[in-house]
Amino acid sequence: MSELTYKRILLKLSGEAFMGDSAGGIDGNTVLRLAEEVKQLCDIGVQVGLVIGGGNILRGSEVASDVMNRVTSDHMGMLATVINALAMQDSLESLGQDVRVMSALQINQVCESFKRRRAVRHFEKGRVVIFAAGTGNPFFTTDSAASLRGIEVEAELLIKATKVDGIYSDDPVKNPDATLYSRISFDEAIDQRLNVMDATALVLCRDHKLPLRVVNIFDKGAIKRLVMGDDIGTLVE
Ligand code: UDP
Repeated sequence: MSELTYKRILLKLSGEAFMGDSAGGIDGNTVLRLAEEVKQLCDIGVQVGLVIGGGNILRGSEVASDVMNRVTSDHMGMLATVINALAMQDSLESLGQDVRVMSALQINQVCESFKRRRAVRHFEKGRVVIFAAGTGNPFFTTDSAASLRGIEVEAELLIKATKVDGIYSDDPVKNPDATLYSRISFDEAIDQRLNVMDATALVLCRDHKLPLRVVNIFDKGAIKRLVMGDDIGTLVE
């Protein structure tokens, strides 16, 4: 087997990736397909951390209103990420993959609480670790949680799986002339507001030298090829 370019990665999936063709919620077959991609990585010896968003269920900023406090709605959003994490845990286990959910909020009956040292121990034992409940704080996103956890557990690469092939000069859905970048700096991504991740997440990665790859979630096997050294999607460094 050829050498792995990355031995420990942090993969960020948005909640929308769990919807399949539905308008929201969780599609079991879609989660299972994603779990198969993750299992493929574990089978070749990659240590995988996952951060899953909650946008398929609820985003705090969209629910907050005159009659709904933003902190409360963000707590609801964080709980949505726990629901998704449990779905992914179940699918991975059905494939025979060891996995632990670690939550930034204490919900001891359903999952472990996040502890960095314990997370690293899980990786060393070949378990997938799903980091749930974002950062545990309102007003943040799961993109920031992915950067934060990636840095904390010393992942070598943060992968953001999206609906498109990488980072474009403009929205490729609206503008057919948009060009795909193969490489870009964090400062360019931040300055040009390229809609990759929010600025907090990008600044964290930049300041702590965690490279980021943006890849297409629908490209089967792309993440496996990436960890084995292929130049896929857009590299931000
Ligand atoms: N959230 C939060 N703090 C965090 C991470 C997430 O309050 O550290 C809440 C926030 O309301 C957010 C929701 O959880 O809208 C779901 O996360 P996100 O919107 O990042 O999910 P995605 O768009 O990736 O599916």
